[in-house]
Amino acid sequence: MKHPTLIQTPTQTQFLSVQDVAALVSHAGIAATLTRLADYILDDYRRWQDFDKCARVASHSPDGVIELMPIADAQTYAFKYVNGHPKNTRLGLPTVMAFGVLADVATGIPLLLSELTLSTALRTAAMSGVAARALARPNSKTMALIGNGAQAEFQALAFHYLLGIEEIRLFDSDALATRKLMRNLQHTGLRLIACSSIAQAVRGADIVTTVTADKSNATILSADLIEPGMHINGVGGDCPGKTELHPDVLRAASVFVQYEPQTRIEGDLQQMPADFAVTELWRVLRAEAPGRSSAAQITLFDSVGFALEDYSALRYLRDVAFELGLGQKLSLLPELANPKDLFSLIRPDASARANAEPALAWAA
Ligand code: NAD
Repeated sequence: MKHPTLIQTPTQTQFLSVQDVAALVSHAGIAATLTRLADYILDDYRRWQDFDKCARVASHSPDGVIELMPIADAQTYAFKYVNGHPKNTRLGLPTVMAFGVLADVATGIPLLLSELTLSTALRTAAMSGVAARALARPNSKTMALIGNGAQAEFQALAFHYLLGIEEIRLFDSDALATRKLMRNLQHTGLRLIACSSIAQAVRGADIVTTVTADKSNATILSADLIEPGMHINGVGGDCPGKTELHPDVLRAASVFVQYEPQTRIEGDLQQMPADFAVTELWRVLRAEAPGRSSAAQITLFDSVGFALEDYSALRYLRDVAFELGLGQKLSLLPELANPKDLFSLIRPDASARANAEPALAWAA
């Protein structure tokens, strides 16, 4: 698709607020949003070689991390600013908050500035769905969902709409989080079962999603809980020193990652030796490497969140905002009659100069 240009004058930037993105989702519906977003992600992963990629740049502090995630192809550059602070919820703030920019490579003009907190939850869930469609057993019907915080409803719905998951077994160390999720998803047609332990939630599930937040090497899943044929969607281990899976779970599984250099540092994979074999997912999505090869195989998507999903999300938001006429224009950049005359923006106007001249003459 030829990308529409949202801006009226070349130096204006389209801005999408949280309310704009929420309106955009409610207009299309969450099923259509996740489905279309998954298509954008799939399209971009299938042209993996077009992108200039790097692991994200992280600034760590005792309670969290702030990260910049850049990526570009020949036409479009994108970056996301995102944090991860598991203790934030005690302050009434989300663990994860984000915004991002889409820019024109030819000129450097920022075309779109958008909220990406809501959009990160949507794109993470859509990415999980893209991976699971390639890796989980066909006809998977049940999923365990461990961690029922901000990301969890989006994960549940992506698996419902993209894979046909009908039953979700829930566990969170905070029972109120599980209750919130059940309330939010009560009219979706999903069968939701609150469990009293991780083991109870995981037993017999086709798919297990872990999406907990704790800045520690936690053991949400140990190898004794894993059954033949399971697909594990590990979402919460996404930062050095922050993991969810016992190393034996990785040893038991075929491990798939987004961008190997980043996942080696940030994923559950950080616990494994440097020569531990993994497959980058784009190769499976391009049919250049096998995904699941038997019904008994255990597959693991060690998701950390890669800049390409945000590039896809920003591209999606730009297209849909254009279709719906959402957003407003920002003057982030100067508009100059003479591009070499930046000083014109602060040059005193003619009358101010006239008043200033006698004083200058007097001083001389
Ligand atoms: P959140 O703080 O809103 O929710 C996390 C939930 O995990 C909380 O309800 C908490 O009670 C629960 N939890 C913590 N320890 C637990 C344990 N041992 N057992 C059971 N439950 C436990 O956070 P969120 O926004 O939902 O994010 C969850 C995680 O996903 C974070 O670690 C975040 O960094 C990560 N994340 C990853 C991606 C990605 O692309 N891979 C994207 C977004 C967020």
